[in-house]
Amino acid sequence: MAPTNVPELFGSYVFNKRVMKDRLPKETFRALKKTLDEGVPLDLDVANQVAHAMKEWAIEKGATHYAHWFQPLTGITAEKHDGFLNPTDDGGILMTFSGKELVKGEPDASSFPSGGTRATFEARGYTVWDPSVYPFVKEHTLCIPTAFCSYTGEALDKKTPLLRSMEALNKQGLRILRLFGNNTAKRISTTVGPEQEYFIVDEKLYNQRKDLRLTGRTLFGAKPAKGQEMDDQYFAALKSRIVEYMEDLNDTLWKYGILAKTEHNEVAPAQHEMAPIFSTTNIAADQNQLTMEVMKKVARRHGLVCLLHEKPFAGLNGSGKHNNWSMATDEGENLLNPGDTPEKNAQFILFVTAVVKAVDEYQDLLRISVASASNDHRLGANEAPPAIISIFMGEELQAVLESIKNGTHYDEISKKKMTLGVDVLPPIPKDSTDRNRTSPFAFTGNRFEFRSVGSSLSISGPNTVLDGIVAYTLKKFADELEPAKNFDEALQVLVKRELNAHWRIIFNGNGYDPSWISEAESRGLMNLKNLPEAMEHYMDPKNIKLFTELGIYTKKEIESHYEIKLEKYCQVLNIEVQTMLEMLNKDILPAAFKYMRDVSKTVSNLKSVVPGAKCGAETELLKKLDGLVDELAEKTEELNRKHLETKQAADYMSEAKAYANVVIPAMAETRAVADQIEVLLGEDYKPFPSYEDLLFRI
Ligand code: ADP
Ligand code: MG
Repeated sequence: MAPTNVPELFGSYVFNKRVMKDRLPKETFRALKKTLDEGVPLDLDVANQVAHAMKEWAIEKGATHYAHWFQPLTGITAEKHDGFLNPTDDGGILMTFSGKELVKGEPDASSFPSGGTRATFEARGYTVWDPSVYPFVKEHTLCIPTAFCSYTGEALDKKTPLLRSMEALNKQGLRILRLFGNNTAKRISTTVGPEQEYFIVDEKLYNQRKDLRLTGRTLFGAKPAKGQEMDDQYFAALKSRIVEYMEDLNDTLWKYGILAKTEHNEVAPAQHEMAPIFSTTNIAADQNQLTMEVMKKVARRHGLVCLLHEKPFAGLNGSGKHNNWSMATDEGENLLNPGDTPEKNAQFILFVTAVVKAVDEYQDLLRISVASASNDHRLGANEAPPAIISIFMGEELQAVLESIKNGTHYDEISKKKMTLGVDVLPPIPKDSTDRNRTSPFAFTGNRFEFRSVGSSLSISGPNTVLDGIVAYTLKKFADELEPAKNFDEALQVLVKRELNAHWRIIFNGNGYDPSWISEAESRGLMNLKNLPEAMEHYMDPKNIKLFTELGIYTKKEIESHYEIKLEKYCQVLNIEVQTMLEMLNKDILPAAFKYMRDVSKTVSNLKSVVPGAKCGAETELLKKLDGLVDELAEKTEELNRKHLETKQAADYMSEAKAYANVVIPAMAETRAVADQIEVLLGEDYKPFPSYEDLLFRI
């Protein structure tokens, strides 16, 4: 491939500020900029001019259509394309695009999940442009990032609540900043850098595996002779097919203005990671959706398939999407960066305390925000952050917080104590390499890293919760501190009290250690092992109160999410069981029968040629296979029966629970027997590519 001119390529398919400035009349650009920077609504005249310029530019980039690009509750993106073309009287066409079409769209909403919201309210939904994210040309379509609502104002998407939660955090965070004397910052935004992990497999092999095609993960597969035990994959030199893939991936992402920065091999064989430079949360969320789409498409161009499932292979590390999160002002101040004056440090400590309190009080919401049928395989498994939510602070910051909490020394040698607003913090190391990777929520020097987010999830949900719970806590803090006569004193009291109240959530130890489970239990922390268990807490009054008071979700929206999440969980498992049953009946059992038949034939042939031949090995093998095949047939029947029973459940919650507690264990048992058979079959008899084929043949 020709070398890439990155500065030239970067953002070349994005209608960004540079293009806007270039192509719009000065007045129009100024009006648009006001919309972009301050959220002032666009008037129709300006919108018309912007739409015209956008269309002309898009046509030059090869676009023939435009689409309102949005994120329904399916968790993936949706786009309905409309051509620019408009017929003229004389049989020709004009390419048109109006301000109205730019700003608002009316896709038919009836086939998107709404969990009852739409049924009881309004059958139509509409999309509105989110001008804080730039439009871009993808393939032949001008994509306009939009929010998606019902006509009665309920959010039918993931973007709207995220924007609402960011707004809540902005409002409450600014109240806190004013208390510290900052009267100049106009806006606080949260920032996110999502590290995206993924697996790459060969397309031809992938096509031979029904489970990968239909469910995104392997439902069968014996452990290969070699797994990840040698640790010879992490950061290893890239195979040439992977290099070509990554080059193409980077070029495509850069074209769309995505700041793809870091790329490397991950721990498991065939596993990799791409991390972009962080950006404002709603932009990061949109771009991550686009990134996942591009990752999959580019892979196909190289005869590869990109797997974004959280656990494509049993026994190997799963894939996450570490959500690096912080808060920053429009003046460029990172509020989770320890400062260098006592004032700034007190402010930093207050924001950290808010995060501690928020995470402790809303463990359930954070856990729910990352719950999915696929991510359940990862959370609580040995390599992933546990299902228990806790915070890793790092030694230095922990010592400081402890000193504030107890009024003791944080530095025993120099007998230093921490008084807020008076003392300067000791240096807090950033991002040290030996940091704890077993924590679901870790402070890494100037941000928190929420590691429980799954690789296939939209980051909108987890960040809506994160922004929401921190906003709510900041609100309580501001309510208490604003009326205080002596701010410094009130601050000391508040921080000390809250750290004492929520200290249990801080855990610097090994989150994979089995002893942590009992320790967490004795601390009263939640251990929500799977989606249905977690969802039982979703509609707890405290959670509804938080969301509705901040205006992030209405009660109706919460009720609909509850239904949608459970329904989706059941659907995923239903597909997995059906796929399993098909593979058992059509692939695995027939493969075993065929092998057994051939071995039996060998035995009878041999006996007729060599009278008295013992055929000991063959007979042993046949006996073993015969036993296993019987067992597998039984397990298959049992799985089928349990599955059918589960589908009789009266509601989604009982169905989901039956899947989690009855069907998933039955799937595991069935698989275990099938995997034993796989090991015994001759190479020519295996029904589909093995783990070894998938993991090591790139
Ligand atoms: P590691 O794998 O060591 O955790 P990476 O470099 O892969 O680190 O990812 C770190 C991510 O954190 C990047 O996306 C980076 O841009 C992001 N990040 C850095 N600072 C911030 C911040 N203030 N807010 C949000 N994300 C940040
Ligand atoms: Mg990384």
